[in-house]
Order: sequence, then structure tokens, then C-alpha cells
Amino acid sequence: MSYVTHLEAAIDGTVLPADRIQTTHEGRPLWVRYDLDAVRDAVARDDLARRAPTLWRYRELLPVADDANIVTLGEGMSPLLPCPRLGAALGLNRLFIKDESQLPTGSFKARGLCMAVSKAKELGIRRLAIPTAGNAGGAMAAYASRAGLEAYVFLPADTPLVNRREATLYGAKAFLVDGLITDCAAAIARGAAKMDWFDLSTLKEPYRIEGKKTMGLELAEQMDWTLPDAIFYPTGGGTGLIGMWKAFDELEALGWLERTDRPRMFACQSSGCAPIVTAFEANERFAEPFENAATIASGLRVPKAVGDFMILDAVRASGGAACAANEAEIVPWMHRASALEGIALCPETAACLVVLETLVAEGRIDRDARVVVFNTGAAQKYVELLPPDPPPYA
Ligand SMILES: *Cc1c(COP(=O)(O)O)cnc(C)c1O
Repeated sequence: MSYVTHLEAAIDGTVLPADRIQTTHEGRPLWVRYDLDAVRDAVARDDLARRAPTLWRYRELLPVADDANIVTLGEGMSPLLPCPRLGAALGLNRLFIKDESQLPTGSFKARGLCMAVSKAKELGIRRLAIPTAGNAGGAMAAYASRAGLEAYVFLPADTPLVNRREATLYGAKAFLVDGLITDCAAAIARGAAKMDWFDLSTLKEPYRIEGKKTMGLELAEQMDWTLPDAIFYPTGGGTGLIGMWKAFDELEALGWLERTDRPRMFACQSSGCAPIVTAFEANERFAEPFENAATIASGLRVPKAVGDFMILDAVRASGGAACAANEAEIVPWMHRASALEGIALCPETAACLVVLETLVAEGRIDRDARVVVFNTGAAQKYVELLPPDPPPYA
């Protein structure tokens, strides 16, 4: 069984039933709501420690009704790694990386797509489609194969090499589109009626957030039911940031947190594509499409996010900020930080480090603050950004 009571439109609170296929309301995302009183009666916080270390340990806070519909690749809890050397380089005494690169398909997209594909299976959907700036396509393809569902993946022609090939490896039908992720989404919208595709785009169905929210649940559990002072999150569509904020709300409502003070949330983007930062600085609740979006951090190349107001609401409520990294500093920081800690950092995470370096230098982040940076993907997925071949041994 699940504890889901209903879905709720994020834009105006309209209640929608959860027992049938739902997408958006007024073109905007839906929240999944649970009977948290019943969850509190069914499970105690300390029961979790005895469960397997996968995201399914938070079963009562997840939307799948029948265990038979769980589609899994063993998506394990990601480690929370103290990073003293990288911290010292940034001027921080208590820096942690939550290393999501160890999830199936090498990125945290596995969390969202694991949940969305499981729910699609539960709702009887057979054919999935996704527009992707990179890692989401591979993750959807892998979980779709695992579930025995058909998968169609649309990616920009200049997406990193591994992303262009992995979906096909996992048995999906993949297509290159001349344009950005928004053009890929338009291609799916045009073909949807004819092809009977169900669109698993970021926030265009309600369940990817529920998968990504497990980052926040895990983080709280790993920090003994407290939360850090600041979270740095590389923000494209924003699902993870929105999901974590929701996780903190649910944990607080359950009474599971030892202290209810929330982290300041920092949404990090690149100067090459910073729609959320532009809206944050202009005090707007909705973001304008970012013109000529271009960044090496492909997961951040999202010129228009349907959940823009949800990201901005959470960032503002937390006392954090949306900040842009100078594009030219991203790859140097990716190499430097990976070498300092032995963690294969993706360029999206390097953008967070660029922002963090500035905020620490400006005194906006305290040197003793407990800071968590999410490493959302593995460096190996960006072969073109790795250092060049070493010289021959003579
Ligand atoms: C998709 C992606 C992001 C952005 O995630 P959102 O939750 O959509 O903001 C960041 N980093 C990597 C590696 C990604 O694949």
C-alpha cells in the first residue's frame, strides 16, 4: 500500500486524484501528498536503520502502492564524504560531498527515474519518452529496460558523448535533435499523440520529485537527523532542490528532525545559462527563458524550467541564493577538486565549487559552517572534459 492521499497543483493548490495518470495542472507541476499521521503510526525513525541501504528504505514516504511494481537497479544510499583537503582549498572547515555519482548509470538522475518508471509501470503506461540535456536519458532507458517498457530518448546533438550513446546501450530508441532540451521537449510534444508517448520530462509528471527527495531524507539520516547549514546544488530543472525542501517539510511534520533549523539552499548555475539566477536577482517568482544558453556543464543547460517558482520559493524561504559560476572556471575546478579528494566530480558540481569559493571569500558562508555539496554525476560521463592522455613513458 502507499500513504499517498492526493496530488496538489503547486501553482494554486487544486486537488487531483492520484489513482490515475496525471501530468501537470495549468502547465505547472504537481506535489504528491501523503497521510503523514498514518506514516508516523506505521514506522518509527529508528526502524529505518534495520532496512537495506537503498532509497526504498523510505518506503512509507514513496508513492508506489504495490511492491511488485518497484523497478530497481539497487539504487544504494550515496556516501556523505568529509572533504578536508577540498575544504581547506575553499577556506571551509566542515565541507562534505554527497557523492551521487555512485548511483546506477552514474548520476543522481537514477533516483528520479527509478520512481517515475516504477509509477509509470504501476499506472499501466507502456511507452516512455524523455527530452534530456544529458544524464536523464540514460537513467530512463536503463529503468525502462528493467521494467520491460519501451523508451524513446531525445537529446541535443552536442550532448556529451557518453550520454549520446548510453541510452542505445540500454535498449532505448534515441534521437539527436538540433537544438536545446526545450527543442527536444517540443519534438516529443509534436509526436506524442501519434506515438502514444508518456512524457517523463522533469516535473511534467509528479513522481520524479519523490525519487529525488530521497537525497534530503538520506542526508538527514546520515547527519543523525539534523540538517547542514548550507546546501550547494547544481540547478537545471531544479527537481532535486525542490525535492529536498519537500523532504525537509515531511521530516519536520513527522517530528523526525532533532532540530528544525533548515539549511540555506544555494541553487548554482553557470554564467552561460542562468535563468534562475536572473530571476532571483530581479526578485521575480518566474524565470524568463535564458537566451543563447551554452555551458559545458550540460545538466545545467536548461534555459526554461517549469518548476522555476518552486525552486525560487525554496531558495528564498531558506535564506539562500541563486548564484552563477563563471563558465571559464568550471573545468579547472572539476580537475582540481577531483585530484584533491579522489572523487570523480562532474562539471555541474564544479560550478557549485566556483560559487562556493566566491561566497566564502565574501564572508557570506561562515568558515565553520557545515556545508554539503552534491556531486550529481560521475566525471567519467564527460570523457571530453577529462585531462588529456598522459605522455608516453620513455
Ligand atoms: C540533471 C543534472 C543536474 C540538474 O539537476 P536538476 O535536478 O534538474 O536541477 C545537475 N547535475 C547533473 C550531473 C545532472 O545530470
